[in-house]
Amino acid sequence: MGWLSDWRRKRLLDRHRIDGALWQRAARGLGFVRALGPADEKRLKDLVILFLAQKQFEGAHGIKVSDAMRVSIAAQACLPILELGLDWYRGWTGIVVYPGDFRVRRAEMDENGVLHEWDDELAGEAMPGGPVVLSWDAAAHDPWMNVVIHEFAHKLDMLNGAPNGMPPLHAGMDRAAWAAAFTQAYEGFCDALERGKETWLDPYAAEHPSEFFAVVSEAFFRDPAEIRRRYPDVYDQLRLFYRQDPAARG
Ligand SMILES: [Zn+2]
Repeated sequence: MGWLSDWRRKRLLDRHRIDGALWQRAARGLGFVRALGPADEKRLKDLVILFLAQKQFEGAHGIKVSDAMRVSIAAQACLPILELGLDWYRGWTGIVVYPGDFRVRRAEMDENGVLHEWDDELAGEAMPGGPVVLSWDAAAHDPWMNVVIHEFAHKLDMLNGAPNGMPPLHAGMDRAAWAAAFTQAYEGFCDALERGKETWLDPYAAEHPSEFFAVVSEAFFRDPAEIRRRYPDVYDQLRLFYRQDPAARG
């Protein structure tokens, strides 16, 4: 559990509980929970309790973050770290929930020193060292993406500096093998898009290697058999990193 001592962990689990009906309601909307099996589901639920004790939710634009929303978001956020531990989400506490997509002001200086400003419409954002920001509408209703897993994958990627599509790898993992698998998949994906081909993954994955990592992480948990079939080398690296084999859960 990293810094969370067994004693503290046990005390937190004794003090904070999730009502069974509330958990059932949240889990019903999340296919991956049903695939876990009872023992792993119990471990996920415990992790969610610890996550909720540590992180702070805040509603923006007048939305009230209900217990059901907190549990649903937490369950999705905790799935990727089920075998890693909560320590992987260290260094920040806030989760800001907007009712729908939200606008952020961007500014960038170009090489001629001219400042360009524009608005971006986002379903989620992960700030380095800061909060995760989510659109509840996207988190609850968008069947094509999992914005929660996406943004929390960015958080993992940011643990070793600027997001670059390579989170801190475990001892025994091979950085060269990771880089080879991801570079080949990313370049092939960008190439297919450029040639106007339909892509199975969200085209947004072509924006940057860090976006590719976040998008394939979503797919790894949402549609594992398909990503294993299409990108076997990437699947293998993700399996080693997340220490899970979701395609084997059936
Ligand atoms: Zn992203």
